[in-house]
Amino acid sequence: MDISEVRIKLMNDPHERLLAFCSITFDVSFVIRDLKIIQGAKGAFVAMPSRKLMDRCPKCHTKNHLRASFCNQCGVRLDENRADKDDAGRARLYADIAHPINSECRELIQQEVLKAYQDETISAKQDGYICRYDDFGEEDYARLSPSYEEDSEETKAPAETAGSESIHIRKNNQVFRIDSAESSQESSPPHHTAAEQPESDKVSSNESESRLRGGDTFGSGIV
Ligand SMILES: [Zn+2]
Repeated sequence: MDISEVRIKLMNDPHERLLAFCSITFDVSFVIRDLKIIQGAKGAFVAMPSRKLMDRCPKCHTKNHLRASFCNQCGVRLDENRADKDDAGRARLYADIAHPINSECRELIQQEVLKAYQDETISAKQDGYICRYDDFGEEDYARLSPSYEEDSEETKAPAETAGSESIHIRKNNQVFRIDSAESSQESSPPHHTAAEQPESDKVSSNESESRLRGGDTFGSGIV
């Protein structure tokens, strides 16, 4: 099996551990997207595309992220420590969607991707550089609903934040943010204004999202 192409999307943020997204093509036939190049303690490594693990609310059967302290739909309180632990005692919150099943293949992908990343950082400095990774516009800002001015109650519902330590629940047409145990005080009620939104997850780049939510006009009207 050959890796026929690697496409890289550089993040260009020296403060982020996420260096780039990439896609790889095998045998000019099959593409896998959403691999990540991450700066680790021992150098850069490649993370396979993954999804957040979910489980169902025992009350309303809606799926919630395993770290959710409250059901995203009905608001019932959930056990925050319900995720399985790995051998090192860390909560298992994500599962790879595609991954190598032997170390040779893992090495091959890692080598090719990191080499392509190095080449990309060089070509990115040249005039006329065009990134060939297609992110399908996921990095764009969403347009606000035209009815935002008249009806801010419906339009200010924040999008789900990947990997964030807080979740949002929607109840009676209102949105509440709930922090997980690490970042909230026991005595505080489970809702805050959006202006208090903490910095988003360090690996996933949600900078633009949190900037939007941190704006003064966002969150006004949340009780
Ligand atoms: Zn529920």
